Amino acid sequence: MSLEFHNVSHSYGTTRVLQDISFKAAEGEILCLLGPSGGGKSTLLRLAAGLEPVQSGHLSLDGELLAQPGIQPPPEQRPIGLVFQDHVLFPHLTVTSNLAFGLAGTNKLAQRDRVAQLLEQMDLAGLDERYPHELSGGQQQRVALARAMAPKPRVLLLDEPFASVDSTLRRQLRRTTRAALKASGTTAIVVTHDPDEAMQLADSIAVMAQGKIAQHDSPSAIWQQPTTLQVALLFGDATAIVSHSRGGTVFSAFGEMASTLPDGPTTLAIRPQGIELHQPDSDHPATAEVTDLRLLGHRWQLRLTALPSETAHQDLPTISATTDSPESFALGTQVRTTLNAKDCFLFSNTN
Ligand code: ADP
Ligand code: MG
Repeated sequence: MSLEFHNVSHSYGTTRVLQDISFKAAEGEILCLLGPSGGGKSTLLRLAAGLEPVQSGHLSLDGELLAQPGIQPPPEQRPIGLVFQDHVLFPHLTVTSNLAFGLAGTNKLAQRDRVAQLLEQMDLAGLDERYPHELSGGQQQRVALARAMAPKPRVLLLDEPFASVDSTLRRQLRRTTRAALKASGTTAIVVTHDPDEAMQLADSIAVMAQGKIAQHDSPSAIWQQPTTLQVALLFGDATAIVSHSRGGTVFSAFGEMASTLPDGPTTLAIRPQGIELHQPDSDHPATAEVTDLRLLGHRWQLRLTALPSETAHQDLPTISATTDSPESFALGTQVRTTLNAKDCFLFSNTN
């Protein structure tokens, strides 16, 4: 079932938190809503779940009106499930009873089958007779997810569901969750402020900033063609530096690349992979100095500070680069840099 927001705006008192939001989670799609804390992500979910009245705009399910000002069906009349960050399991019920709770009204045999299926899907086998206090945080969160999925909601809304789980477990939990959502064909909107989480979970990512959707695209398009500087800076450890476009070329402290922007000041977002390192020679002078060198596990990260030059003289920018051969780029070494356009993103300063 698809869920669509049409021109939704929302204010708390006089503070506008959502501004003319339109986007669609398609049937069976996992959509990640990514944005900074306080950006209005939870408010969007609460509007869809019916926990907050729609003030302006409307929502639809499979193209049919779900809610608008004056028409606000209560949560229990919506085919929508909701999971919060703080899993709220019934403490006095076992895992099995917690899962069965959402299935009240169906016959016992069907309940037992469904619970067994959920235990298996969410990696909870063997924990069925435990009480919540006998489970780890990650296990509790899996039970909470399984319970929300038990009645097979057509749409599931998950608000930072893994936020209280440590990072190793979180990765595993994302995989389990994605697999379970895909197996059931549930349409899901997952709120996160973690770009890696969005990349790992989502079929599409909607990046929110200042109460608006900055970009809604596939993970690969978000990664390869960010349409705003803000989106570019969220993914892949990019740094923004000042640059200048002139006659189809953009000039920066770390090198040049082709530009389709009109002449004038521009901003260049550069990922570590966007910097290529070379030994300077008499024709190609050094552009930067290595000011830090850290092992990140699989690769070395260099910090490069630009050398004073025609294009960089006031605030000398510092940027990250990456290398497999730290011996060539020891601390204090002067290097020549060029830009690899695939990991550099150029934005005009005038919009
Ligand atoms: P996010 O989930 O992206 O962190 P929220 O939707 O929770 O953002 O909140 C957006 C903004 O609205 C925040 O500034 C928050 O303080 C404010 N806000 C959220 N809920 C309420 C409320 N019930 N009353 C007043 N302000 C609220
Ligand atoms: Mg929130």
